[in-house]
Amino acid sequence: MGKIIDGKALSQAVKDEVKAEVERLQAAYGRKPCLAVIIVGENPASQVYVRNKVAAAAYTGMESRKLELPADIGEEALLQRIRALNDDPDTDGILVQLPLPSHIDEEKVIDAIAPEKDVDGFHPENVAGLWLGKRCIVPCTPAGVVRIIDSLGLDLAGKHAVVVGRSNIVGKPVAKLLLDRNATVTIAHSRTADLGAVCRSADVLVVAVGKARLVTGDMIKPGAIVIDVGINRGADGKLCGDVDFASAEPVASWITPVPGGVGPMTIAMLMKNTIACFLGRQE
Ligand code: NDP
Repeated sequence: MGKIIDGKALSQAVKDEVKAEVERLQAAYGRKPCLAVIIVGENPASQVYVRNKVAAAAYTGMESRKLELPADIGEEALLQRIRALNDDPDTDGILVQLPLPSHIDEEKVIDAIAPEKDVDGFHPENVAGLWLGKRCIVPCTPAGVVRIIDSLGLDLAGKHAVVVGRSNIVGKPVAKLLLDRNATVTIAHSRTADLGAVCRSADVLVVAVGKARLVTGDMIKPGAIVIDVGINRGADGKLCGDVDFASAEPVASWITPVPGGVGPMTIAMLMKNTIACFLGRQE
């Protein structure tokens, strides 16, 4: 029987670390880190994510500002708001909740955020930093995935890690972080032949696809570590991951549930990144 990784408990520990750090920074610098979150329009899922991020910031004691902008805001007007936050000495982190309405070019928006305030780690300068092994802000979900894996205390050297999904925000950065831990990494995607065989060769399997219960127990090597990044609404209306938990759990050694796995860790790592941005700006 696989052991279930408690992402909620782990994220609580990270948020408590951040809380202590906020107090220390307030004492040392006379000011708390401040995260600005921009939400454009009224996408219900985005509103939930932003609410959770602001609540996490409040828990840690850091400052946060929520900028709610109308769905029909022009691209230039949004870019101006970002530039103003870039120039604001009291703002340490800037997050623009994605997706944006279709008339706004997301790439332009990401590029406009000052790299040293880019808490999501999506700016090309941070992406390059990650791949070149330079100091950078690591995207929150991939950082959460490896924090979960690190918490198991296993040496990944010589292990085969398979990442299913090759998006810029999850799959690719997760693969690089596993490579940094000396795993031998394979990235699978929609054109991969025999996904089952590829997954079955994994000692560590990270799935970030966005397809409910795509990976089933028969695709998992006995004893593998399974990290499920997916967030989907199943046919039964319930939240579920990209891994079929019921069939996977008896085969895996460790497995993350959905909800309560990677999701809470993403928000906790956002808090960590805000601290990193604050510290980066003190130098
Ligand atoms: P994207 O849609 O950007 O990428 C999905 C990837 O999955 C693509 O690389 C795609 O391949 C691949 N894929 C699609 N279908 C298959 C298939 N049948 N077999 C193998 N690979 C396939 O998604 P994201 O990376 O943004 O997100 C993935 C999931 O993670 C989503 O459910 C999302 O909601 C969730 N998520 C969760 C977060 C959290 O905090 N827990 C944060 C961010 C995302 P190809 O490139 O060939 O098209």
